[in-house]
Amino acid sequence: MKIKSAEIVISAVSKAQYPENSLPEIALAGRSNVGKSSFINKMLNRKNLARTSSKPGKTQTLNFYLINEAFYFVDVPGYGYAKVSKTERAKWGNMIESYLTGRHELKSVILIVDLRHLPTNDDVLMYQFLKHYLIPVIVIATKADKIPRGKWEKHAKVVKEKLAIEKEDPVIIFSSETGVGKEEVWQVIGKWIK
Ligand code: GDP
Repeated sequence: MKIKSAEIVISAVSKAQYPENSLPEIALAGRSNVGKSSFINKMLNRKNLARTSSKPGKTQTLNFYLINEAFYFVDVPGYGYAKVSKTERAKWGNMIESYLTGRHELKSVILIVDLRHLPTNDDVLMYQFLKHYLIPVIVIATKADKIPRGKWEKHAKVVKEKLAIEKEDPVIIFSSETGVGKEEVWQVIGKWIK
């Protein structure tokens, strides 16, 4: 995918602020600090478009990135950050849930997990939630550069088993450091944004 333009158009706190031009949307979900911002930056060839290592759990907004004037990446706030209050968590839950279950423009969700570690229970819940609502999922197992290539497949197998991944769902090994997996991700996304 050639990135001709990429810009953040809105950090939405409510539905009224979502874009109204009906372009397809690909949402990105994952626990705080998993590497979601780094993934977005790498995919869009930007160093700092999505803020990396900002305080985890801080941005409780849906950030819409318009790409090539043709589709959006929608960055969903990271989950699983312990210091978020119960009230905040509930607010987060409601906004995300209604976006994911009710947004017609949403074509697919990219669920980002860490290739090094067993997916968390929150990762499993998110995957099950998406499957329950029949939302197409693409799993990205990132930070691959942190383990030797010879162990990638073994780790990917553990990720798939813990998530109880279904056959139709791609699991792509990725690194925001090296860019491994990037073209494969664009190929899969390509199917959803036509
Ligand atoms: P977010 O909270 O999910 O948006 O996570 P960030 O993108 O801010 O990443 C969290 C930390 O992990 C940062 O220190 C990143 O530099 C680091 N990181 C993210 N992706 C990778 C990766 O693919 N490889 C390595 N080695 N570090 C990564």
